[in-house]
Amino acid sequence: MAALRARTVLLTGSNRGIGLELVKQLLGGPRPPAWIFATCRDPEGPRAQELRDLASRHPNLVLVKLDVANPSAIADAAKIVEGKLNGAGLNLLINNAGIYAQVSLETVDSDEMIRTYKTNAVGPLLMAQTFLPLLKKAAQNSTEKGLSCSKAAIINISTVMGSIEKTPESFCKPVISYRCSKAALNMLTKCQALTYGEAGILCVALHPGWVKTDMGTQEADLTVDTSVRGLLSVLPVLSEKHSGNLLNWEGKVIPW
Ligand code: NDP
Repeated sequence: MAALRARTVLLTGSNRGIGLELVKQLLGGPRPPAWIFATCRDPEGPRAQELRDLASRHPNLVLVKLDVANPSAIADAAKIVEGKLNGAGLNLLINNAGIYAQVSLETVDSDEMIRTYKTNAVGPLLMAQTFLPLLKKAAQNSTEKGLSCSKAAIINISTVMGSIEKTPESFCKPVISYRCSKAALNMLTKCQALTYGEAGILCVALHPGWVKTDMGTQEADLTVDTSVRGLLSVLPVLSEKHSGNLLNWEGKVIPW
């Protein structure tokens, strides 16, 4: 299996669930990145204890405060990351942070729609805009041909629930605000691929499967370990032929 060769990686929502497991498996992989910027809303708080324990053992793990729903927090985090990179670029941005609410067409309201859209769609948009200079730098500094996660990439953690074609199969869970926000994230991924591809940046949306986390609940199909192992085995094989697509944790394309 090909290994991920990204030297610098930044993740959002990395204090628990899929984000935390991505950090753990990146650190434990055959070629750990030189820098992993694990961002979360409250790196000093109780919910980031595991992340802090990891950082105390791994000098290449840097914790950065970042709320993706707060544009000025994104800008502040980018300054910290740029300083640490000291002239190097950012190879891989993983937009993982997300929120989910059990609302139907009857119960959803304006505040819930906007709250979820802000985190799940606007957050990844602003993250990519803000970190674009560092991603471009990584692409320019690379001697690799084509697009890859080792060179420069934006990975948006999305879901099959944002696929319009697949909606009837899972509509027993309407989760309207979540579905609409992730359908928007899928569209964003396509637009990013068409725009940022010219700068050498790969843009892909990935569905992690239904995963046992706080969001996925313990009823879910996959352990977080299995899902993240799958995601990390898909990343190294992504190329220009996948850019602008939604793929699952096994690398299979999901229709929009
Ligand atoms: P969890 O609920 O377990 O974790 C969500 C993470 O996102 C937490 O770290 C949380 O931080 C963070 N987060 C939420 N809002 C913000 C914000 N405004 N700024 C920064 N961080 C934020 O979810 P999962 O790990 O299961 O999900 C991760 C991603 O995978 C999400 O995008 C989700 O939509 C997607 N996904 C998950 C599936 C599943 O079955 N679990 C299925 C399909 C997709 P905090 O602790 O501060 O709240």
